[in-house]
Formats: sequence, C-alpha cells, structure tokens
Amino acid sequence: MFVPMHLQIPSPVDALTDPLFDQKKIQVFVKRDDLIHPIISGNKWRKLKYLLQKASQNNQKTILTYGGAYSNHLLATAEACRLLGFNAVGIVRGEEQENHTLNYCRAAGMQLIFVTRSEYKDKESCLKHYVPKPDEHIVVLPEGGATPEGFAGCKEILAECAQKFDHIFCAAGTGTTAAGLYAYIKENDLKSTLNVVPVLKEGAFIRKEIERYLPTDEKVQVHTQYHGGGYGKTNSELVQFIVRFYQKHRILLDQVYTAKMMYGLYQLVEQDYFTPNSSILAIHTGGLYGLLSIGDKLSAIDPHFTQILRSLEPK
Ligand SMILES: *Cc1c(COP(=O)(O)O)cnc(C)c1O
Repeated sequence: MFVPMHLQIPSPVDALTDPLFDQKKIQVFVKRDDLIHPIISGNKWRKLKYLLQKASQNNQKTILTYGGAYSNHLLATAEACRLLGFNAVGIVRGEEQENHTLNYCRAAGMQLIFVTRSEYKDKESCLKHYVPKPDEHIVVLPEGGATPEGFAGCKEILAECAQKFDHIFCAAGTGTTAAGLYAYIKENDLKSTLNVVPVLKEGAFIRKEIERYLPTDEKVQVHTQYHGGGYGKTNSELVQFIVRFYQKHRILLDQVYTAKMMYGLYQLVEQDYFTPNSSILAIHTGGLYGLLSIGDKLSAIDPHFTQILRSLEPK
C-alpha cells in the first residue's frame, strides 16, 4: 500500500538476556512491534492497515471510530488519518477531558465527540445520533479496531519471523491480535503454544473472542491472573516492574497491556512453567505513548524517566 510515512516493517526481534533465563535454561525474545511507528505503533498499525487500504480504494474520506479516553486505537487512527489524508472522528467514552492521548488526537485533527458511558454502550445509536443518514463515504471502525481486516493484518506478525518458537506471548484486549497470531500458527502447522494474557478482569472470555475467528484447543493458553486489578488499572508492583525491565533491557513497556504480559511471563518463568530449552517470543504490541500518563510515578522511582519519556513526545 502507498504509505507516506516511515514504518519499520518487518519489525526486529530482540533477544533478552537475564540470569533468570539462563538459570531456567530458556530463551526469551521480543518482537518489537513497538518500533513500527512512534504513534501508530504495535498491533494498532497491523489492525488498521487493510481497513485504511480498503477505504482509500473505495474513495472513502472519513474514518469514524470509538474508544476510551486512553485508547491507543483512537491515537493510532488519528495519526494514520492525518498522514494518509482521511478525516477522523472519534467517539469517546465519558466526560470531555484532556490527557496526552486525547490532546494528540485533537492536534492530529481528529474530531472528538464525548458521550456518556451509557450512551457509549449502544454503538449503533451513538452512530445514528452523529451520522443521521447512512453515508457511504464514512467508514465506521469498531472499538479497538477489532475487524476481519484487523485479524488479517495481525496474521502478518509471525510471518515476519524466520525462527520457530515453542511459546508465543501476547496481551489481549479484544483478542483480535491473539486470533491473528493463532491463525498463523495453525495455517503454518507450527508447534507453538499461544499464551494470551488478558488485561481485563475475568479474562477467560477472551477464548470466545478468539473463537469468533477460529476454533481453539489446548495450544491456546489463557493466563487470567495478570490483569493487575482490571483494564487500565495499575499498581505499584507493575510500575516497579516497568522501571526494572527498562533498566535491565532498555525496552519500555506500557502499563495497560505489554507490562502485564511481560510481568505474567516472568512470573511463569519463576514458577517453572516452561520446560528447559523452551524458546519464547513475546509480542511487544506497542502502546508506549500511554506511558506519559504515569510519567510522575515512573520518574519518582527512577529520575531518568523524565528524560526517557520525553523521547516519546513527537519532535
Ligand atoms: C490495543 C492493544 C492491545 C490489545 O489488542 P487486541 O487485539 O484488542 O487484543 C495490546 N497491546 C497494546 C499495546 C494495545 O494498544
């Protein structure tokens, strides 16, 4: 597709070194989808790619989508629309407010419409309210970019990896990324187990979400105990983990998704979940811009974070 922006695709795979991994005789790698683009990062580009391509081919000019006040999907959509020349409309859950994510969306030219939590639940009526007549020039994307096109884009993550892994790890919100990863594993007869870390409470539902796309079996393991208090919730242990992980590996993790996945992975390593000689690939699905909202907490633990987080702000 014609993309007037630099995207680092294929994204690199980095090996993590840690005495713990040596002790347990395992190897851990990270697929750095966080490096795809500073704002349209991780799985959000994977999920938008075919949708925006289709919209462009159909000459559709406006992309309308939904998200919470800290939504990486809104942020990525706003920036992609700015760079690709689409109009963008974001329907945002909750009261009008300012934060790094929403400010960026506004600056990128996205029109934000705030609706109450109860209004937000009924996406159809939100839409009718703001777009009274069906308009073929408007593309409506569901929350989180959860679509068959998004699923297709996420299949491409593992297609970029030449090496084979015993375990793949990903964080899950809607499960679209997990479904794409698992579809690639199945279609290519890989022996990898897919380990899914839901970031919401009571995350067992994520298997049903994956099964909207394809059947699952014991090769999909859902680890429901690492949600850290629920969606968007953090605790001091998780914040500490983000700082220590960065100090050790020079890789940032976001508090909503990837830190929960990586924390879970470390817990499982310590519990001898993996047999010796296992190789593990964790998908870094990006979302780092959201770290700005906990900048104070990170800098309180390690003052270097003031500078480190500055690098997330676009030049
Ligand atoms: C949106 C998001 C996810 C969740 O992806 P799903 O496909 O909805 O499960 C994971 N990680 C990051 C960083 C995200 O922004």
